[in-house]
Amino acid sequence: MTSTFAEQRERQRAHDDARAAHHDARDLSPRRDNATLRAIAEEASQRLADATTDEVLAWVAEEFGYRTAVACSMQDAVLPHVVARHLPWVDTLFLETGYHFAETSGTRDAVESAMELTIVDVMPRQTVAEQDAEHGPRLYERDPGLCCALRKVEPLTRTLAEYEVWITGVRRDEGPTRADTPLVTWDEKNHLVKINPLAGWTFDELLAYAGEHDVILNPLMADGYPSIGCAPCTRRVAPGEDPRAGRWAGFAKTECGLHT
Ligand code: SF4
Repeated sequence: MTSTFAEQRERQRAHDDARAAHHDARDLSPRRDNATLRAIAEEASQRLADATTDEVLAWVAEEFGYRTAVACSMQDAVLPHVVARHLPWVDTLFLETGYHFAETSGTRDAVESAMELTIVDVMPRQTVAEQDAEHGPRLYERDPGLCCALRKVEPLTRTLAEYEVWITGVRRDEGPTRADTPLVTWDEKNHLVKINPLAGWTFDELLAYAGEHDVILNPLMADGYPSIGCAPCTRRVAPGEDPRAGRWAGFAKTECGLHT
């Protein structure tokens, strides 16, 4: 039976109220210093080297509580779904570069409406128009490294300074640059603990989890885009091709700098 507009609006209001109530009630102890966090990461990286996804995330919830951020590109919502089972309404960071596909922005909105998450839009210091005025239009065509630094790396680093740990969806099967991804590590660049709980998952396992739990997927995934970034820097890949071959095609660049 389809619901009326009034019923949908009431459900959305209740959802938003629950998010706000949780946000107000959460217990945030002061951020610990870097030496303490590094020691925690180094101990856990050994102890949890062979742990399951749920074991790692149960430890994260216990150790860090809501000083936790989840990174989500809105390619799919599997990672925040897995994390929210341990930390409902966890802060979920979306890099709002200004260059996303409409499908990606739509996925972001659908996730915020439907899931027990708190979406945090991570904004660059400049709008696209301001960047164009300073560096010229279509910087991504001439210097994608600088464009990513301005629109992804700096905003994320600035935002992560509030947290003790961040959780990413990096998987070892995504390509050679990610083959050695650990479950728990110290992020030297951003000065916080980094967790990669899906490191050992395959793409098929990710899709199976999404199907089993009815998790929202970006519709582009079913349209030849197994790895989705900004629209100007992402193309379809052929069946059997490296999933990340469609990112920055034509450049030597293979990573945006967030995980290297
Ligand atoms: Fe710029 Fe492309 Fe990097 Fe997006 S992926 S920030 S458009 S270079």
